[in-house]
Amino acid sequence: MSQKVRVRFAPSPTGPLHIGGLRTALFNYLFAKKNNGDFILRIEDTDQNRFVKGAEEYIIEALEWCGIPFDEGPGKNGSFGPYRQSERKDLYKQFALELIENGKAYYAFDTPETLDNHRKDHEAKGKTFIYNWHNRLKLTNSLSLSPEEVKAKIENGEDYVIRFKSPENEQLVLNDIIRGEIKIDTNILDDKVLFKSDGMPTYHLANIVDDHLMEISHVIRGEEWLPSLALHQLLYDAFGWNAPKFAHLPLIMKPVGKGKLSKRDGEKGGFPVFPLTWNESEGYRESGFFPEAVVNFLALLGWNPGTEQEIFSLEELVNTFSLERVNKSGARFDPEKNNWYNQQWLQKKSDDELSELFAKELNDNNISVSDTYIKQVVSSIKERAVFVKDFWGLSDYFFQAPSSYNEKAVKKQWKEDTPEIMQGVINTLENVDDFESTVVEEKVKAWISEKELSFGKVMPPLRLVIVGDMKGPHLFDIMALIGKEESINRIKSAVNQL
Ligand code: GLU
Repeated sequence: MSQKVRVRFAPSPTGPLHIGGLRTALFNYLFAKKNNGDFILRIEDTDQNRFVKGAEEYIIEALEWCGIPFDEGPGKNGSFGPYRQSERKDLYKQFALELIENGKAYYAFDTPETLDNHRKDHEAKGKTFIYNWHNRLKLTNSLSLSPEEVKAKIENGEDYVIRFKSPENEQLVLNDIIRGEIKIDTNILDDKVLFKSDGMPTYHLANIVDDHLMEISHVIRGEEWLPSLALHQLLYDAFGWNAPKFAHLPLIMKPVGKGKLSKRDGEKGGFPVFPLTWNESEGYRESGFFPEAVVNFLALLGWNPGTEQEIFSLEELVNTFSLERVNKSGARFDPEKNNWYNQQWLQKKSDDELSELFAKELNDNNISVSDTYIKQVVSSIKERAVFVKDFWGLSDYFFQAPSSYNEKAVKKQWKEDTPEIMQGVINTLENVDDFESTVVEEKVKAWISEKELSFGKVMPPLRLVIVGDMKGPHLFDIMALIGKEESINRIKSAVNQL
């Protein structure tokens, strides 16, 4: 029987989730659900110096907002908990000791100052200091000291770390689902610290131990972890454990192409890079994106369905997703395209849902109209909107008479004979009983023909006085919605003012 698919998203709570981290979570979720597997959230908080209050809550809220909740994790204990590494801290040391016993790791007593001096010495000679087979016997560790010396140092309470003994002269062949085979010469690896003097494991040890104990089948994470893959594979081998399969996702690049997308790019370009607002950085949620749009554009950042389809619901993504279709090369982040996705998702929303969202804003503007009216307005303007927050700017004239008229348009459209023509329109409108769009249109057009006027002399100035500008949907739809009395009043007051 093949192993059950279990994947994990393993962020360190060092700040808000960057959009790249959110994509990692999404790809893990999609892969898990596609394969009827489990999606686990594990909080990697062994580095106490980098811990940021509120970050864990932020991560959980962001996943929930996107609609990609985890099956196991903090607060949702499955049978592999606890899911915060700080709560598992007592279990890591025995694994480090096991490696020492097997000759795969060793105690090292070098002080930070000694190591720093070595580094500087090497630098002065134009070399790089690597703590590995090259020089480990010249340093202070359980490979260079006698067992008695080591014992004495530990009993004396001297600070020590536990280092992995990386092999000399081996050719490793690593496998990555996205990148294929990767060959590494172990001579370039350093003896990474597995266990720190503060009694905490490092990321590498805790990560491997937990992935093993939590029966993780696939490790799906960002490309920045690719350099750690050799060590991780060596650790699995050292423990005699089967390694999970690995997939390293491509980086998310700046809108201009080269370089990794950063928080500063968002600030410069005026677009969010966080799912939710964090301090003064506005999130996707707060700037008006629908979670469906965010999930949709994130999925296509680095993954391609192999077809022309661009709009995917979460369910469709789950059905179509595969790691084999994730690209190796970096994915360019395109804020314009993200807006386009939101626009597409907005069009898919029902008028009811959009009206409810818009009603809140109208309420804030002290405008009270019926729900039916809001729905009619929304239905006639939503096509032009990217965000719900665009609605007001696109529809204010449905709720209030224009307080001014676009100057350029006035110059162009308001001629000497316009007031007289507008009076004619008023007279025509007064005789329309059934004030419906098609009826009004028919009556006004009949009058234009009868008077042998041109449409250009009537329609543009009429739009200008009703809307205040040359924008908006079909003019007769607008007039029908605001009603006969309001339409006539607006024409009258423009004739007085212009
Ligand atoms: N804690 C690591 C991070 O913050 C996890 C890397 C991994 O998935 O192995 O991204």
